[in-house]
Amino acid sequence: MSTSAHPSADAIDTGRTVTDRLVEANERYASRFTDPGMDARPVLRVAVVACMDARLDLHSALGLELGDCHTIRNAGGVVTDDVIRSLTISQRALGTRSVMLVHHTGCGLESLTEDFRHELEDEVGQRPAWAVEAFRDVDQDVRQSMQRVRTSPFLLHADDVRGFVFDVTTGLLREIDPA
Ligand SMILES: [Zn+2]
Repeated sequence: MSTSAHPSADAIDTGRTVTDRLVEANERYASRFTDPGMDARPVLRVAVVACMDARLDLHSALGLELGDCHTIRNAGGVVTDDVIRSLTISQRALGTRSVMLVHHTGCGLESLTEDFRHELEDEVGQRPAWAVEAFRDVDQDVRQSMQRVRTSPFLLHADDVRGFVFDVTTGLLREIDPA
């Protein structure tokens, strides 16, 4: 019998890899799945940019259903050039018009600094092309991310861009004033 707190941790006890477990879960998912017959354009015409944090279940937290939105996630939910790439494709090729940014309390990026990058360079002998995008003030980082979206020359729609901080202890969003 497993002593793990979470059923997903059972894989560790049985010699299967985590990925084996996910593939098995997919087989169960597919056995119940019916093709909803959607095309690729998000029903709600919204793209959500969020941190990759494991405690943030975007679809449940925002009441999203399959097909509703584009979900773009990375460490911090920061608006990098690659996020702009995805948003540009989302808006220009797939019809989204709104952008929602979701950072959260207790983000791992708050405990990092750009030293992470320098230490990495010392270890591997190569400087990464990307910035760590660490931050001290999550509200300010949301504002900066909103600003990067609003000022991008590539996007068609920059009027409906709103930013939030998700509280991982209450599940509630707090909106950040862009000013
Ligand atoms: Zn985070």
